[in-house]
Amino acid sequence: MKIADDKVVSFHYQLEVDGNQIEDSTQGEQPMMYLHGHRNIVPGLESELEGKSAGDELSVQVPPESGYGEYRDDLRGRIPLKRLKGSGTLKPGMTIRLETQQGPRNVQIVKVGKFNVDVDANHPLAGRPLQFHVKVVDVRDAHESEIAHGHVHADGNHEHG
Ligand code: ZN
Repeated sequence: MKIADDKVVSFHYQLEVDGNQIEDSTQGEQPMMYLHGHRNIVPGLESELEGKSAGDELSVQVPPESGYGEYRDDLRGRIPLKRLKGSGTLKPGMTIRLETQQGPRNVQIVKVGKFNVDVDANHPLAGRPLQFHVKVVDVRDAHESEIAHGHVHADGNHEHG
């Protein structure tokens, strides 16, 4: 079966960023599963997987614009420390969930001052070219509920709210 829209794809991957640093992988773990054609994974990888089958191996170069996006200076900001009451001890490098006008977002703490905190809402891999090494493990038809929800259900067809 070939990968196409509304197929559930399982694959192993290794991610290299900036040459040879391996940032992320499924080695020794369960393969990653996603629903093809629903933007569950970065677009540059999804488009290269189109038409592939179980057993296929490929290396994919993904530039930032079809990966996690360009780095945006306007996603950095300074917020009052008192707005983050209840978030515990804040340290640079920590990721916290912040309510914004666009809904909840994960932001990384850049700097903690006496009254303010500098945060960065860019994805940690924004602006960076990615190289994926992928091996396709399995391709199956999606269940109706998966297509309706736009994501994979681990046990195939459960319903949830
Ligand atoms: Zn669902």
